[in-house]
Amino acid sequence: MLKNLIGGAWREVHRPGLPVYNPATGEVLEEVPLSGPEEVDQAVRAAEVAFVAWSRTPLLERVRLMFRFKELLERHFEDLARLVTLHHGKTLEEARGEVRRGIEVVDLALSAPTLLQGRTLREVTGGVDQNLFHYPLGVVAGIPPFNFPVMIPLWMFPIAVVAGNTFVLKPSERTPLGAVRLAELFLEAGFPEGVLNLVHGGKEAAEALARHPGVRAVQFVGSEPVARRIYALAAEHGKRVSAAGGAKNHLVVLPDADLDLAVPAILNSAFGNAGERCLAGSVAVGVGAVGPELLERVVAAARGLKVGPGWEEGVQVGPLIREEHRRRVVGYIQRGLEEGATLALDGRGVEGPGFFLGPTVLSGVSPGMAVGREEIFGPVLAVSFVKTLEEAIQQANAVPYGNMACIFTQSGKAARAFREGVQAGMVGVNVGVAQPFAFYPFSGWRDSFFGDLHPHGPDAFLFYTQRKVVVERW
Ligand code: NAD
Repeated sequence: MLKNLIGGAWREVHRPGLPVYNPATGEVLEEVPLSGPEEVDQAVRAAEVAFVAWSRTPLLERVRLMFRFKELLERHFEDLARLVTLHHGKTLEEARGEVRRGIEVVDLALSAPTLLQGRTLREVTGGVDQNLFHYPLGVVAGIPPFNFPVMIPLWMFPIAVVAGNTFVLKPSERTPLGAVRLAELFLEAGFPEGVLNLVHGGKEAAEALARHPGVRAVQFVGSEPVARRIYALAAEHGKRVSAAGGAKNHLVVLPDADLDLAVPAILNSAFGNAGERCLAGSVAVGVGAVGPELLERVVAAARGLKVGPGWEEGVQVGPLIREEHRRRVVGYIQRGLEEGATLALDGRGVEGPGFFLGPTVLSGVSPGMAVGREEIFGPVLAVSFVKTLEEAIQQANAVPYGNMACIFTQSGKAARAFREGVQAGMVGVNVGVAQPFAFYPFSGWRDSFFGDLHPHGPDAFLFYTQRKVVVERW
């Protein structure tokens, strides 16, 4: 049974637990305890105690420790990637990409001496100067989803702690092993006890964090209904909240697009990470004459993708996270067919024992169908045909989400019209996954994000600090 990290010590949790699986084999790897308000309270108290000294620790010392953490992440890069593949299921190459993207946020945290600088305006009126300083908030909390067990925890605690806060992390109960390994390396780097605390659990622990009076801010990343709920609950309890939710991302292909570039990009977007990512392309929209050829080429290429355990050479699509989730995704395929879509490629029927589903393509999808509107979070690509770019933009904007939208075209004018018209916070032009690098905010719009300041980029430094303005006359 996994243990909680409270004030620098790993503590047993006397509560029921859940199995942690290897999704490629169905084998149970570990058991994760489901903490409740009592364990959350222990973690918050330990973080409160640690905050007193940590918030006064000089910035250069905080950065030095973060640099040691970064060195350890680099040293253990391959093991971290293998751990991600083992309990999440994504391919080793995808896991390496995830770990690299996570480390890039630690690189950003190392920029704290620049990004935490305040501002000064001298002589505002006669003999009066004004200064702005950034202060840490206190104890802050992070609640990540299952699909990036290393990267998303790294979106959260490195920037928070380098800014002088202390942290309580509640990893996903489905993929907790990445966070455990990160916490071990964090301690090995020499951070004082209680700066990072880790509480295992699910809904009960997450809600206890959102309610706890000692927690000043909550960063959540997960599905839309839970993001909405945590946003409301934590705000009701007086906290600053950043809550990133789900997505339904459209990939628009214009007749002038270079299909040699677009087709592999669409495949990677829709079926990479087995479709379990918030930047997965979920609907490919062929505009005008390109539609039939686009469908044909996407289906032919998707048919060739190799499905299997993520650690095997040449595998391109790993398993889904759980059997229940696989059944849910299969349910969407069935519903799509009942609502009038056509099965252009059927990924069902891949042999177990893992939770596998092959790439699936549904054509003739309209925005009114569940498969055209709702987040599926599996290797299922919906394809629809429209006559004009304006119609494609309308279709992308018809869903409530606004995470990402991409266009494939040779026309700068069309790309600009798309960028201006589409209601999404991350836009790709001739790329299938428009993931901002760590130094830009991960900026979902509409129902893909609740709050103001987004994950990473300069936003994260503002999220994890409060400003003090000092007006001085001497
Ligand atoms: P989830 O909402 O089920 O869980 C996220 C976290 O909330 C987990 O830590 C979980 O333990 C906790 N939780 C689950 N149910 C809860 C409840 N009822 N009340 C309080 N807490 C609860 O999400 P998931 O299935 O782990 O992750 C997949 C989802 O995350 C997808 O919808 C995906 O689009 C989204 N996601 C969004 C982003 C983004 O940046 N927008 C990034 C990655 C994933």
